[in-house]
Amino acid sequence: MNPAPPVIPFRRSLLSWYRKNSRDLPWRRTTDSYAILVSEFMLQQTQVSAVIPYYNEWMRRFPGFAALAAASEQQVLHAWQGLGYYARARNLRAAAIAVREKHGGNFPRDLDAIRDLPGVGRYTANAIATFAFNRSLPIVEANIGRLLARLLDLQIPIDTASGRAALWDVAAELVPKHAASTYNSALMDLGALVCGVRPKCAICPVKHFCRAADPLMLPLKKARRDTKFCTEHHSFTRRGNRVLLEQSQDRWRGMWMLPRCAPPPPHKPLHLSEFPFTHHRITLAVYLRDDAGEKASSNQRWFFLRELEGVPLPSPHRRALAAIFPTTPRASS
Ligand code: SF4
Repeated sequence: MNPAPPVIPFRRSLLSWYRKNSRDLPWRRTTDSYAILVSEFMLQQTQVSAVIPYYNEWMRRFPGFAALAAASEQQVLHAWQGLGYYARARNLRAAAIAVREKHGGNFPRDLDAIRDLPGVGRYTANAIATFAFNRSLPIVEANIGRLLARLLDLQIPIDTASGRAALWDVAAELVPKHAASTYNSALMDLGALVCGVRPKCAICPVKHFCRAADPLMLPLKKARRDTKFCTEHHSFTRRGNRVLLEQSQDRWRGMWMLPRCAPPPPHKPLHLSEFPFTHHRITLAVYLRDDAGEKASSNQRWFFLRELEGVPLPSPHRRALAAIFPTTPRASS
């Protein structure tokens, strides 16, 4: 592995570029630990442009730890619907409850205590400590990982233990003692705006430090798992202006969806659509089921169509309902 670039000139080039090119992001306008925690949870696996409207609405609905800790899981899932990876929403609420119960409502400053919060790992803890408290700590997320791998011409897959260790080591070597928040933001923006999937090496402010022989081939990653294709069967049952829904116990735990049906009925589905989930490509097949007047089971409920706006529904099921009933309220995303 190549050594880290010379620290002082590297930082100088990076920061001088950042002064003219920084992104104006809503969570950059504050050092409030709650706002930064929310943004960091939302940004995991999600593009900045998709996060901004959710972040703004979330901060309006749950402006601080106390408001989020007092909200029900259903309210929180509803506010998150459309962003995906719902464990993040449940963890964020659990973190707010932990701040209220273990820390008297004040976000802890101690790094170990931050890492103890539900859903917070090394990256998120360091990001909050650097952006909220300006602590001199390295951070490595997708943009920074790609940039550093190219700077070093790292020939180890970055999603292995040794690849991750190499990136964190060089990030720690480069981070300054003072103004780490600005430096880390600059590194992130350079990775996002210049050293992206298609790197713009001609305009890169740190190209003189970059060892990448073939940037497009970096970063290396382990071989991807093959996409698996499967079909999930659900039923649509209507009683007047009401529709039967079932509360999910697994992938979308706590959210409401069309009831599962297994085995699928022999007739054609009323609705077919596709959605991705991790390395799966899932076909959602929805079958019309006659209302035989039986009682809903313990995890099922009848909802009026007009109520659906306020019910947390996973996007594929909300889209299916909107296709079957064009007047169904759509997700806000
Ligand atoms: S020179 Fe190209 S590959 Fe190297 S850091 Fe800059 S944009 Fe990335």
